Parts: sequence; C-alpha cells; structure tokens
Amino acid sequence: MGSDCIFCKIRSGAIPSEILHDNDACFVIRDIQPKAPVHLLVIPNEHVTFVSTLGLQHDAIMGSLFRTAHEAARREGISGTGYRLVVNQGPDAGQAVDHLHLHVLGGRRLGEMG
Ligand code: 5GP
Ligand code: ZN
Repeated sequence: MGSDCIFCKIRSGAIPSEILHDNDACFVIRDIQPKAPVHLLVIPNEHVTFVSTLGLQHDAIMGSLFRTAHEAARREGISGTGYRLVVNQGPDAGQAVDHLHLHVLGGRRLGEMG
C-alpha cells in the first residue's frame, strides 16, 4: 500500500467511499468528478503505480480489471450503448493518482479522443 495513496485508503476503508463492486483483483467506485453520466473507476487492490511498472505477475489482475469494467458497465446499463475505457499514464495524460486505474465512461455519446 502507498501510505499517501487515496485509492489504497479507499480500499482499506480509511477514506469512506461507496464501493460498488469488489473481488480478489480489484474494486469499483464512482469518480468524484464525473466527466460523463456514468464515470466509474476500476482499481486494482494492489498498489500498482503505473503501466510502466507492470510485470508478468500482474497479467491476471489486468485481465480481471477489464472483465470487471465490462461487468460494472453492464450493471450501469451502458454495456449495450457502449463505453470508453481510459488509462492515464504520466503527466501528459494528466494522471493525478499514482495508483493505476481504469476509467469507465459512458451514458452519452463521447467526443473524439485527444
Ligand atoms: P487520473 O487523472 O489519475 O487518471 O484520474 C484520477 C481520478 O480519480 C480523477 O478522475 C478524480 O476525479 C478521481 N478521484 C480523485 N480523488 C478521488 C476520491 O477521493 N474519490 C473518488 N471517488 N474519486 C477520486
Ligand atoms: Zn494505492
């Protein structure tokens, strides 16, 4: 756990937050500043910081992250209309929390990326 990490604190319960779903690999919360009608964060239980620090040992977790994202989208009723998965890596992408996470965005027609 990163001692100053917001997502680790949410996972441990130190910061109260509604956890929509959790499993052995990851958990799902709503983004506090939603950019779309549905904006979820799928976060590994393990404090992995960046895409660049992923190793072979994380392959199963990453697979679960994507499956959990789809399941969370289905529960929100947007799996049929579609959604966007985003990972911000580093300063140019605007990564604000250094604990790798998948954004799930949907519920409206999303604009072009970039
Ligand atoms: P990043 O820019 O690192 O990819 O995204 C971090 C996301 O975490 C942002 O969209 C931000 O709104 C969200 N966030 C930051 N702090 C909190 C928090 O305490 N609770 C929740 N639910 N979301 C947060
Ligand atoms: Zn963390």
